[in-house]
Amino acid sequence: MSTVERQLEDIHSTVEQEVPGDITITEVRYEGPELVIYTRDPKRFARDGDLVRRLASKLRKRITVRPDPGSLAPAEKARAEVMRVIPEEAGVTDLDFHVDTGEVVIEAAKPGMVIGRHGSTLREITQETGWTPEVVRTPPIESSTVKNVRNFLKQERNERRDILERIGRQIHREKMSDDQWVRITTLGCCREVGRAAFILSTPETRILIDCGDKPGSDDVPYLQVPEALGSGANSLDAVVLTHAHLDHSALVPLLFKYGYDGPIYTTEPSRDLMGLLTLDYLDVAAKEGRTPPYESEMVREAIKHTIPLEYGDVTDIAPDVKLTFHNAGHILGSAISHFHIGDGLHNVAFSGDIHYKDTRLFNGAVNNFPRVETLVLESTYGGRNDYQTDQEDSERKLKQVITETIENDGKVLIPAFAVGRSQEIMLVLEEAMRSGDIPEVPVHLDGMIWEATAIHTTYPEYLRDDLRERIFHEDVNPFLAEQFNHIDAGEDERQEVADGDPCIVLSTSGMMEGGPVLSWLERIGSDPDSTIVFVGYQAAGTLGSRIQNGRRDVPLRGPDGRSNSLTLKMGIETVDGFSGHADRQGLENFVRTMNPRPEKVLCVHGDERSTQDLSSALYHEFNMRTFAPKNLETFRFV
Ligand SMILES: [Zn+2]
Ligand SMILES: [Zn+2]
Repeated sequence: MSTVERQLEDIHSTVEQEVPGDITITEVRYEGPELVIYTRDPKRFARDGDLVRRLASKLRKRITVRPDPGSLAPAEKARAEVMRVIPEEAGVTDLDFHVDTGEVVIEAAKPGMVIGRHGSTLREITQETGWTPEVVRTPPIESSTVKNVRNFLKQERNERRDILERIGRQIHREKMSDDQWVRITTLGCCREVGRAAFILSTPETRILIDCGDKPGSDDVPYLQVPEALGSGANSLDAVVLTHAHLDHSALVPLLFKYGYDGPIYTTEPSRDLMGLLTLDYLDVAAKEGRTPPYESEMVREAIKHTIPLEYGDVTDIAPDVKLTFHNAGHILGSAISHFHIGDGLHNVAFSGDIHYKDTRLFNGAVNNFPRVETLVLESTYGGRNDYQTDQEDSERKLKQVITETIENDGKVLIPAFAVGRSQEIMLVLEEAMRSGDIPEVPVHLDGMIWEATAIHTTYPEYLRDDLRERIFHEDVNPFLAEQFNHIDAGEDERQEVADGDPCIVLSTSGMMEGGPVLSWLERIGSDPDSTIVFVGYQAAGTLGSRIQNGRRDVPLRGPDGRSNSLTLKMGIETVDGFSGHADRQGLENFVRTMNPRPEKVLCVHGDERSTQDLSSALYHEFNMRTFAPKNLETFRFV
């Protein structure tokens, strides 16, 4: 008998001792980080709301109770009962019964009404039918990404269950070594922005944190070193993804091409956004005539192996490592990843990308941890002069530019990244129109912006609390405001808008390296009454940065593939201060108010000057050990 079998037998008897004698436990098994208890009496479990909580604290594990398949009411009968229990206002859009696990997945417009006060409606569903309910939100704006991911996971449910069981056994395997050490190896993203990838290792465990590309370059992380894939793709225990931006996620699917078949831990919105952005990444590569590094099949493998975690869930991901995600304030689902190693041996937090202050979209990054000795900190704006304009001033300037342009009968073109900054700008525009600060005109959203916004509205739990409250309780979803229009009919619609009245256009790509923004430039670029407004970072060498720096002759490739040149006559404005990253002040404040303050800080994800400036500032200000590592360095912490 394997040690995991023996462990499960022990747990089985503990559970039987703990529950009332008339409850029959048929099986206990691991599925990923969770312990699943199968019972013939799910209704009895549901009646005692506290029973599962007591078991979880006794066993110190995350517990799910499921009905033994033999004990269930047939799905057709249960369907009617489930619908009777759920209030009609919940707006149920789909019920999906899974006979093999006894779960019913309920998709509803208002998940809170399906859950009920402290889970009372959920328990009632189980009491009435025996089935275990799982609730997901119907996207308020239809999202093909969310729909595809959910359908795909539905279809792969059986295989996924096998994957989870295998992962569960890996996580709960017996510790092999009495040695104690903790190391971090940098595989990329040091003294540069891009190709984020780090290995956290102990004698038992190897974890890869992020696996991104480097925009504007072919450089990839040093994955072939022995600590990473050099000793086989499955010497990795887990992959942790801090957020979905491509400089962190682009090469995650590649790991599956190399034979990795373990878990990816990330948040649910990051999983969906990773799907959207990596598929687009393959698309762009193909359009530009490059060979994509992997096929779309590998994106599906990555999604199938993703174990979504919520902020604050403490989760066993290896025999000696617990992972907890905390809000990073950067983009939807972005997470600071906190690792608790051994029984209090060492604690490491990887910041991923962070924004320390509240923005309209997100609460600022969390910097309270039970313990943390080592911090791996992004340094994008870590340079000594990297201060950003206050968002309030930026908003004032943006509103002024828009008002002037519209009063001149012109159009405002804003190139924007699909994920994060677009939604922030949408919130600014919606409020400014509602309060009469700017004239009410249509706002056209082009490129992936609409789809990314739809994903945001699917997960309001991840948005800033007052925004979430508005969406939840007041039924005022600002993203659904009527001035927002999705450009979904292609070039004809664009031409119609270009020929029409004053308006605002938000379009990808953010640095004008492709995407529909070029088509907009072609249509309105020669109109002296219109204005292009840059609100995001423009990397050197991109078309966006050249226009920002005053270039007026723009090479364009027409729809027929012929290139021609356009002379810009529109106004050119830059409004900064809408960044998703903390500036130098924000990074210092993050560390200053961090509780507890770490002993060591590794400054990464910034160019050479930024990482070194930040490293030396933190050392002088807080008297901590700081580093600006290069790629391929290894640090030992215990
Ligand atoms: Zn990012
Ligand atoms: Zn990044």
